[in-house]
Amino acid sequence: MDLRSGHPYWLLRNGLPSSFPALTKDLKCDVLVIGAGITGALVAFHLVEAGFSTVITDKHGTAWGSTAASTALLQYDMDTPLCGLIDRLGQSRAVRAYLASRDAIGKLHGLAKQLPDDCGFGLRPSLYVAPDAGSLDLMRREYDTRRHYGFAVEWCSPQDLRQRVGFERPGAIYSKEGGQVDPYRLTWQLLLEGRRKGLHVFDRTPVTEYDFTANGVSARTGKGRTILAKHIIFATGYEATELLDRRIVDLKSSYALVSEPLSGTPWPDECLIREHADPCLYFRTTDDHRVIIGGGDEPFRNPEKRDALIPAKTKLLLEKFGSYFPRLPLETAFAWAGTFGETRDGLASIGQVPEYPRAFFTLGFGGNGITYSLLAAEIIRDTLQGVRSPYDGLFGFNR
Ligand SMILES: Cc1cc2nc3c(=O)[nH]c(=O)nc-3n(C[C@H](O)[C@H](O)[C@H](O)COP(=O)(O)OP(=O)(O)OC[C@H]3O[C@@H](n4cnc5c(N)ncnc54)[C@H](O)[C@@H]3O)c2cc1C
Repeated sequence: MDLRSGHPYWLLRNGLPSSFPALTKDLKCDVLVIGAGITGALVAFHLVEAGFSTVITDKHGTAWGSTAASTALLQYDMDTPLCGLIDRLGQSRAVRAYLASRDAIGKLHGLAKQLPDDCGFGLRPSLYVAPDAGSLDLMRREYDTRRHYGFAVEWCSPQDLRQRVGFERPGAIYSKEGGQVDPYRLTWQLLLEGRRKGLHVFDRTPVTEYDFTANGVSARTGKGRTILAKHIIFATGYEATELLDRRIVDLKSSYALVSEPLSGTPWPDECLIREHADPCLYFRTTDDHRVIIGGGDEPFRNPEKRDALIPAKTKLLLEKFGSYFPRLPLETAFAWAGTFGETRDGLASIGQVPEYPRAFFTLGFGGNGITYSLLAAEIIRDTLQGVRSPYDGLFGFNR
């Protein structure tokens, strides 16, 4: 599956920090993780820290899939607002999912602090904006719901917005709990640090065949090597959907651009800014003083069709940004497109399915993909350790 195209900024900025070999011999391990994007890296890191002998392989290179294309805003707000999620899943599950997502941001922060490089991690407040009067009722309801369940939020009137960030919109929810990261650096750092702790990492090693038994799985690589593992984790991103005989996600195309560096802070406190709109629109900054703009989703994933739209989408995203910050002219440095997924309830699917015994699937989709990856890592580690996960029953495939 061609997951991204154009010039994802993180890849260009960081290049290849190191290299991992391809697998050239047969191996045995406790856990085989397939896919070295942010999900696989987080899962493998958690497992090796918990003492499991762990192997991770990628058919291409580290962080080469959707992870390279991610704009990497870390927000607990999901694609489905909390009030809508409560209507859908009931109060208990919906609030637990939001709390889990919020906690994941703090845990990612803790992880980034443990690594030799901060991976561009920054705690940032976030602003969830009502773009027009038509969205105000829902946004007020969302604000009341979040306050009711203890989330630290403030309501911003048009005047508050003008003072706080310099633009006027009918209203917005300001939340103190958000973050941002360089997802490519984080993936690399987790794998490099994981390797120091005993993790075996292989690039250019596609896993092409699986033979499941009662005690484990025998996986064959494209070059005919065998990996015998007690458990296997499919961290293969959107490609994992091809293995599952059920429709879990609608695949879409999404667009992003990064500006040339600016001389100062583009807006006060560099909060994450997201519109409540479909297609979505969001802005963040980077640790080298650029602005990232993302959104403009299209309801198809055909790579040729997707890529043909990059110039038009870049123009559109810049125009939309200009309607917020007309006195901040941006020069586009790089623009790209990627495959993006949306589940019906906006939650990730993490866990086991009857068809593949001793396998776990980690399908964190949508705008919270990275926080879901962290939750997947904890859920899988806890399950393999025989510990009941605090997220038990939240993200399973049978919900
Ligand atoms: C434009 C865009 C913007 C986004 N913005 C955000 C955001 O702001 N915040 C957020 O949280 N999320 C965001 N996301 C979502 C987030 O990026 C994804 O959820 C996340 O990157 C998925 O990571 P992954 O490791 O699961 O998948 P991937 O990064 O796609 O990694 C999967 C890996 O599996 C490998 N693989 C597949 N099959 C095999 C096989 N058979 N053998 C070996 N290897 C295999 C692939 O080569 C690939 O490297 C965005 C996504 C896009 C596209």
